[in-house]
Amino acid sequence: MEDAVKSVVDVSRYLFERKLVSGKAGNVSLRFQNEETNTIAITPTMKSLKNIKEDDVVLVDLDGNVLTKGIPSSEVNLHLSIYKKKKHINGIVHTHSPYATGFAFSNKQIKRLEGFGEIKKPYLDEIPYIAPGSDKLAKIAAKSLDDDVLILKNHGVLATGPNIKEACSLAEFVEEIAKTQYISYVLNSCDSFLVSF
Ligand SMILES: [Zn+2]
Repeated sequence: MEDAVKSVVDVSRYLFERKLVSGKAGNVSLRFQNEETNTIAITPTMKSLKNIKEDDVVLVDLDGNVLTKGIPSSEVNLHLSIYKKKKHINGIVHTHSPYATGFAFSNKQIKRLEGFGEIKKPYLDEIPYIAPGSDKLAKIAAKSLDDDVLILKNHGVLATGPNIKEACSLAEFVEEIAKTQYISYVLNSCDSFLVSF
């Protein structure tokens, strides 16, 4: 149990340091077996991931019953619905990382680039805007999660993995490819701008 809680703290602080989350945004969770029961360790509501301590991490069961003190993230149902539906997922990271979220607020999609393994689809999957923290978002996101990442339109990024470290590096990778694509769009538009002179 201590390892699970420590991993949530480590990943939370890392995401903040890498500027993938800011303010009180973003949430992180992992699933572990606690006396053979599925238990979820998740970041608390209304606290910056910058300063999360082991004491702040909240444990809940798959039905959302809080097993420790504290109030879990407002997106706890989003995390739980994915764990219930996808048995192979044991780590979830939700960010509002700036470049990927910029795409989420635009009419452009993020292309799948090298690093995602076999490219079966040209773009990352996305779902339309649904109010954050709502049961509807939890339900639609779990149903729509086909790969390991989902772009939430006008909201942010949901990255998952077989463990929390994989989910964290995926969130970081998604931000990096969004940044690369943004830069290439800008450079390409500069080109036509310069030619017009
Ligand atoms: Zn969010």
